[in-house]
Amino acid sequence: MAAGICARPSPSFGPRRGGATPDILVLHYTAMASAQAALERLCDPAIEVSAHYLICEKGVVYQMVDERERAWHAGAGRWGGVDDVNSRSIGIELDNRGDHPFSEPQMSALEGLAEGILSRWNIAPERVIGHSDMAPGRKVDPGGRFDWQRLARGGLSIWPKAGEAGDFYADAAVFGYPVDAVDPEVLLKAFRLRFRPAARGPLDATDATLMADLAARWPAMSQTR
Ligand SMILES: [Zn+2]
Repeated sequence: MAAGICARPSPSFGPRRGGATPDILVLHYTAMASAQAALERLCDPAIEVSAHYLICEKGVVYQMVDERERAWHAGAGRWGGVDDVNSRSIGIELDNRGDHPFSEPQMSALEGLAEGILSRWNIAPERVIGHSDMAPGRKVDPGGRFDWQRLARGGLSIWPKAGEAGDFYADAAVFGYPVDAVDPEVLLKAFRLRFRPAARGPLDATDATLMADLAARWPAMSQTR
């Protein structure tokens, strides 16, 4: 365990299936009143949910599950053709109710933690996703208040540029979205929640150019390793 990380072991984990190693990092918010309440829930054997880490608003990092083990944070959903996201990912919970900004100490602790995780497991920045990306329509965390651009500036995620338009849904599948599992509108909503939180109305040219850029950066993303 790295320095500055508090141990708060959860019993809710198991081995990664098929000897998988993590190549996806999934970010969540807790949607609970306090970090302590969230830690209690994530360590309650009866509830059977967990994550590898939780970062409180003050920036303290709690480790609940060893990175080598399979934590139970992703549930049903899919990314880039991966159905068992828990076996292939590391999960970080951010102490946030979902309706307010994320604090500076929390963001900076997340950056430090994510940097270590990406380098230890050789995870590409393109594979740092939100729970809402892999479970469109079912999950909305880490939500429209989360600063994805800041993570991208630090090389810890990606942010698309407008360019040539493509086929929005075909490109979404290449990027990793579970396109055939959800309604087109639901998928558009999930995309905008992360990349265009202020956008409204039907699919437009900006959506298409941004998705084309995401797909172009990661052509191998639709392939299961
Ligand atoms: Zn979540």
